[in-house]
Amino acid sequence: MRKTRVRFAPSPTGPLHMGGVRTALYNYLVAKKAGGDFILRIEDTDSHRFVPGAEEYIIESLRWCGIVPDEGLDASGRLAEVPDERNPHAPYRQSQRRGIYRKYAEQLVEAGCAYYAFDTAEELEKERAAAESAGQTFIYNAATRGTLRNSLNMDAAEVARLLEERTDWTVRFKMPVNTVVAMDDLIRGHIEVNTDTLDDKVLWKRADELPTYHLANIVDDHLMEITQVIRGEEWLPSLPLHYLLYAAFGWERPEFAHLPLLLKPVGNGKLSKRDGDKMGFPVFPLQWTAPDGQVSRGYREDGYFPDAFVNLLAMLGWNPGTEQEIFSMEELIQAFSLDKVGKSGAKFNPDKAKWFNKEYLRMRSDEELASLFMPILKENGVEAPEGTVREIVALIKERATFVSDFWNISWYLFKAPAEYVEKDAAKFWKPENVEMAHEALLNTESAEAMEEYIRGREWPIGKVMNCIRLALTGSSSGLAIADIMRFIGREEVLNRFHRAEERL
Ligand code: GLU
Repeated sequence: MRKTRVRFAPSPTGPLHMGGVRTALYNYLVAKKAGGDFILRIEDTDSHRFVPGAEEYIIESLRWCGIVPDEGLDASGRLAEVPDERNPHAPYRQSQRRGIYRKYAEQLVEAGCAYYAFDTAEELEKERAAAESAGQTFIYNAATRGTLRNSLNMDAAEVARLLEERTDWTVRFKMPVNTVVAMDDLIRGHIEVNTDTLDDKVLWKRADELPTYHLANIVDDHLMEITQVIRGEEWLPSLPLHYLLYAAFGWERPEFAHLPLLLKPVGNGKLSKRDGDKMGFPVFPLQWTAPDGQVSRGYREDGYFPDAFVNLLAMLGWNPGTEQEIFSMEELIQAFSLDKVGKSGAKFNPDKAKWFNKEYLRMRSDEELASLFMPILKENGVEAPEGTVREIVALIKERATFVSDFWNISWYLFKAPAEYVEKDAAKFWKPENVEMAHEALLNTESAEAMEEYIRGREWPIGKVMNCIRLALTGSSSGLAIADIMRFIGREEVLNRFHRAEERL
């Protein structure tokens, strides 16, 4: 049996969508479960779609998620460019492998599975326009290739001359006529497609001496000994061509798994950045600043923990078959299998995403959370001893979804309110309540004693307590009064109460 080798092969055309991270994750889980290799390869043969910074973004996103490639990165964490023991197939950037592909394209021509095409862009445009005006779509395939400018319709001398003289020719795959391609997908099952619905795809271009995605992808998967291709559903239409390419080369084919799409939270269709902007959630792992300066939010910058993000991604399309929802990476590696990945799209639920982060926040130690809260306190001009911050974090972490919520939940433990919520004041700051609260505060030493005092007199406990809370926090909501009093101390309680008496 061949060693399991899978790859994540993104194109650096922009920031990695969360669906792309999920693809990387599922590949990683399959590799680790089988004790195999996870390879990172950058597919950048389409120079028109290249976006500066995208490759670094992809690498940083994987690093943040803890998805560590076995192959593809050098010791400094950049894409490996020279082969060594760890990276025997370097370079892993296809534009740097350009010298490899031409001979494979020519091999297919020699075998009669591909041909040289000399049609200029203008000529093809004319064909398209003519077909369109006749109410049809132009397809370069068996129906049309006989009348087009290619090596199938020319003598050898003419072909040789054009190959020499022209620099804009391509190699096209010669799609077989009326043939059923029978395919098996690990997720979608058996699929059959008739080749008459397909076109003669360009495989290699003389103009930039680069392969197209299809050729580069197949050649590299073969050379890198990939055993399973796990990728997004949008690549399913390419599968018949890929099957035929493997057959044409006479190479052993990897297995294929096409992952279901991530769908919008409401309605139908693919989850897009616009849905995120509209509903206020990120669709990218990390914040991204586009070349035009536009900033897109990221899970990391929004305050998600990487392990929470990985967990929520894992559950988008995969079902462990049990009630368990919280999985560490190690547990995912143990539990994951492609046969539990669904065929239909996975609806993204932003509230569920938050739920995951809340769960992960609760699982963090008070020490760690305190160390994350300290810099936020500093930003707000608060210096507090680490031990106190730890105690406060322990008290409030159940109420928070993100560490950034801590301040909103607990600021009044660090400073007195500067103002009071008008509507709460109108409701609770009544002379009779203030009088009772005042007496209770002055005559007791602790919150417990104070409560007892109020009850003993059969005063309305809710009204009196809310009156005190208003003085301490500026509103009628917040942490338990006993906790607030314990943290700020009796003296500060009395100070705040007197301040409220003066101001309200
Ligand atoms: N370069 C393709 C992408 O951007 C890879 C598809 C595949 O995995 O074959 O997704």
